[in-house]
Amino acid sequence: MEACKPTVTHTRLLSLKVDVDTHDGMRDGVPRLLEIFQQEDVKATFFLSFGPDNAGKAILNIFREKGFLKKMLKTKAPSLYGLRTILSGTLLPARPIATKFPDFVRQIEAEGHECEIHAWDHRYWQDHIEIMSLENIENHFRKAHEAYLDILGHPARAVAAPSWKITEHVIAVEAKMGLVYASDLRGGPPCFLMTDAGVSSPLQIPTTGPCLEELLTQGIKEEAAWVNAIAESAERTPWPVIALHAEVEGGPYAAFLKKLLKTLRNRSFTMVTLGTMAEILKEHSEKSGEPLPVRRLSRTTLPGRAGWVSTSSPLKTEGVP
Ligand SMILES: [Zn+2]
Repeated sequence: MEACKPTVTHTRLLSLKVDVDTHDGMRDGVPRLLEIFQQEDVKATFFLSFGPDNAGKAILNIFREKGFLKKMLKTKAPSLYGLRTILSGTLLPARPIATKFPDFVRQIEAEGHECEIHAWDHRYWQDHIEIMSLENIENHFRKAHEAYLDILGHPARAVAAPSWKITEHVIAVEAKMGLVYASDLRGGPPCFLMTDAGVSSPLQIPTTGPCLEELLTQGIKEEAAWVNAIAESAERTPWPVIALHAEVEGGPYAAFLKKLLKTLRNRSFTMVTLGTMAEILKEHSEKSGEPLPVRRLSRTTLPGRAGWVSTSSPLKTEGVP
């Protein structure tokens, strides 16, 4: 019985975080990923967008977000996401994402993966998070949770913010949600975030290393180089979490994903869900007597990604004699 849960002492753990951002990603990418994970005997954590697919509104950002057009062209977004997705929520009506495919949502859990909440309206969050009020954020989470509960019959245990963008308002809302963990950040160690108002976040397990879209945007063209960049980064990170997108690795880059999973296995990584990683982190901290760090929310930028992402920094008081 004891052998079934990997421990940090004899194996290197790694989690796969799959974001589902669009209708087509849910319809086509999720089944493809489930098939690959089954073939490779891997369990992952899926974060789903439940509400409308307004991905097409991204086009409006060409005029607002510096570097966006370049990114669209470099990543070949139209072929990655398909024309219907590009038009969704703009010229054509927004289509629902996970709420339209409840059987796939249940299948994710039935096959032993973890299924949690990414967003209600991914695009809206991404574009408005800096001005979203506490009430608006609560409203988004409430709608996503209701849809989740309706489909799966139990509350969600975790969330992961769209585009890794959060504010202190988000922490305040998440703190009241009874979550086991959140995965809202890029880089830095697993930690708790403390707001200026003294509110502590759920355990944060950040995404580490680059994701494929960012490597493509940087102009890296060879599959072997993508696999290497991601695997090398995982090797250097104590608690690696690799981000995948249903639209990307469950779409035109499925062959890359298979190669990546084989490489990670060859390098002795054991892939566990983020929920299992959260449990192991807590156990590890209790046994060693070393509490997980408390840090503050901050922002950073990443190569190959337009705009900012959330990360953590030491508390202001740290390092002061
Ligand atoms: Zn996303």
